[in-house]
Amino acid sequence: MSDNASTFPSSLPAHNAPYCGRFAPSPTGDLHQGSLIAAVASYLDARAHHGRWLVRMEDLDVTRCMPGAADRILHLLDAWGFEWDGPVVYQNSAERQQRYAQVLQSLRDADMVYPCGCSRKEIAEVAHAGIDGPVYPGICRHGLASGREPRAWRIRTVDTPLRFIDLIQGAQTADLANEVGDFVLRRADGLFAYQLAVVVDDQDQGVTHIVRGADLLDSTPRQNYLRQLLHYRLPEYAHIPVLANAAGEKLSKQTRASALQIEQAVPAIWSALSFLGQQPPAELAQGALKPLWDWARTHWQLSRIARRRSISS
Ligand SMILES: [Zn+2]
Repeated sequence: MSDNASTFPSSLPAHNAPYCGRFAPSPTGDLHQGSLIAAVASYLDARAHHGRWLVRMEDLDVTRCMPGAADRILHLLDAWGFEWDGPVVYQNSAERQQRYAQVLQSLRDADMVYPCGCSRKEIAEVAHAGIDGPVYPGICRHGLASGREPRAWRIRTVDTPLRFIDLIQGAQTADLANEVGDFVLRRADGLFAYQLAVVVDDQDQGVTHIVRGADLLDSTPRQNYLRQLLHYRLPEYAHIPVLANAAGEKLSKQTRASALQIEQAVPAIWSALSFLGQQPPAELAQGALKPLWDWARTHWQLSRIARRRSISS
């Protein structure tokens, strides 16, 4: 660890606020077992802490959303006994879009973001590979070349290691400048980037604890970096292993994970609890929903979750 490392004291800022967790699915398809595991973990951890639990629809890119999926996800969660607090927030709503624009403007005013005129192809030709696509080589960092039109807005990153402690995965370190580069906050197509929206939403909703899949572990340093620049509180993080198929690919709409059916509640939730290391009694797999939830609420222990990024089914 170098001396100039900027350490995020993950327990400090959120410490005084009452627990608030959330589940934030993308309505690009119906709920499947992989997303159910994240819902169960975030819900039970919030209830075990007598905290609030929110549901947010991450529907930033409407072209990727499946019509009716958001309603079907909410219907299934409700029918399966998940009780969320407050209204469901939709990232694509006019109110949220205005907020993202306002926050992006504040970063522009502080000269923390800059317009980028590069095309994907131009970047790919000169960039080296990072943890999440090519690392932007900073071509437009000091101004657009003449004749260039701004396409996307990028945030200036620093090559200081960023650290945080994940409650499941342990100590994490990232060097944004070398691993990610100046990342996009507003895309060339005008859409706000997930990294910006999620940070603004968590802040505005008072989220203190983020329990989600470890496929998002690499996004966390970007999100904490934005929070630091915006003087937002830093939440606690617990990244649960993701459910992978036999080939080791994360179970998702892209890998054709099957949609959960409403009558599958007990076996699906029982399997999620088992995946999360909670060791539910075998007889509860055959019974009614209420005793399963009662057992799960009183026996929930985050420390039983495997310290792995993925587990194959
Ligand atoms: Zn550029």
